[in-house]
Amino acid sequence: MDWREMASCRDADPDLFFPIGNSNSGPSLIQTYQAKAVCCRCPVMEQCLNWAIRADPVEGIWGGTTESERRAMRRRLARQSRAAVETPA
Ligand code: SF4
Repeated sequence: MDWREMASCRDADPDLFFPIGNSNSGPSLIQTYQAKAVCCRCPVMEQCLNWAIRADPVEGIWGGTTESERRAMRRRLARQSRAAVETPA
């Protein structure tokens, strides 16, 4: 079974997951919180987040994260990978 078939957002308002405008204030911020609340109850949050990190850039809320949060995660993962390669055994 594809993880998407178990997604909690299948029954939620899709607009919540694609807030328009500045996600740091106003209605967009409220939508972001509401979408993240759905994600927190989702049984496939981990699979969704892994997909979104690999697929970036993708817009919207995926795996309980915003696009900018995933960008930061990808940078952190890249730094950790570089450090692991550069660290002598
Ligand atoms: S984690 Fe969020 S965006 Fe991903 S499938 Fe679940 S509810 Fe949908």
